[in-house]
Amino acid sequence: MTRVDHRHRHLERIAEVRAGREAEKVGYPIRVREVEVVRTVMVGTGLLRVTLGGAGAEGFEAHAPDEHVKLIFPEADGSLRLPEANGTMLKWPRPAPTSREYTVRRFDPSAGEIDIDIAPHAHGLASDWACAVEPGARVHVAGPPGGLIVPHTYDRYLLAGDITALPAIARWLEELPRTARGWAFIEVTDAGEEIELSAPEGIDVHWLHRGERPAGTGDALERAVTAVTVPEGERAYLWAAGEAGQVKPLRRWARDTLQLAKADHDITGYWKRGVADFDDDH
Ligand SMILES: Cc1cc2nc3c(=O)[nH]c(=O)nc-3n(C[C@H](O)[C@H](O)[C@H](O)COP(=O)(O)OP(=O)(O)OC[C@H]3O[C@@H](n4cnc5c(N)ncnc54)[C@H](O)[C@@H]3O)c2cc1C
Repeated sequence: MTRVDHRHRHLERIAEVRAGREAEKVGYPIRVREVEVVRTVMVGTGLLRVTLGGAGAEGFEAHAPDEHVKLIFPEADGSLRLPEANGTMLKWPRPAPTSREYTVRRFDPSAGEIDIDIAPHAHGLASDWACAVEPGARVHVAGPPGGLIVPHTYDRYLLAGDITALPAIARWLEELPRTARGWAFIEVTDAGEEIELSAPEGIDVHWLHRGERPAGTGDALERAVTAVTVPEGERAYLWAAGEAGQVKPLRRWARDTLQLAKADHDITGYWKRGVADFDDDH
């Protein structure tokens, strides 16, 4: 009997979607791994980069700009409940363990390092962890469960978000072909939170300064994004993420004004004001 090797099926699918016309979420084999904090460093004044590595990082895969991992934390009683391997999936205990999601900002296979960029804020479990953690500490990471594979054949890309979306937007801009055209809008507190981006020349990057306003408030992002006009007859892809209330109006605009098909946009609430461990199930 011939045994079929399913391990690389997702790589084939990624290549097919990338060469096609429509975006698609492609699942990867998912694992939970114990990794070590290698170092932490501020990237601008708004993001704390936590670099994870060690033997546990071996075999990690990264394929798409918005892919994310779950950091799994001990429960209040100090116990650690972890998902179990179940083929290429994970079986999660119930109730779900305490975890928070973060974008894979960078995976460097040669160094065996995974970077995640965490926006520090008040009263956040993961944020407090990141601000206090020292090199050598260990943490469990699950994922990525898959990634949104977006073909590089759209005429325009429109990317938008706040500082929690900046790690993904930075990856988007690095990974798009250098001939890509479009716009990126990023809301930050002030110029200190702006980071160096490697954007294609044809992508106009706009930093929106929120100033004294608390994170996740105001409609500056919505106003800036919805002022964009996609040239007649061109195909656009819209990706947006950030505070749930701030990105919500973009859904209707994408559908009604841009008239984008479902496969041509992805808008996700990454956090919600006043809600711990928010999960966007729009
Ligand atoms: C797919 C995905 C990818 C993500 N990638 C990133 C990433 O790369 N970097 C990143 O920083 N975040 C990212 N986020 C958002 C992050 O998961 C949330 O901000 C998360 O709530 C932070 O957990 P916490 O334990 O610090 O705060 P929680 O315990 O979840 O929340 C405590 C309080 O803090 C508030 N809060 C949560 N986040 C913020 C914030 N950023 N600013 C101000 N107040 C906040 C909540 O409203 C709540 O009132 C991502 C989310 C998703 C779903």
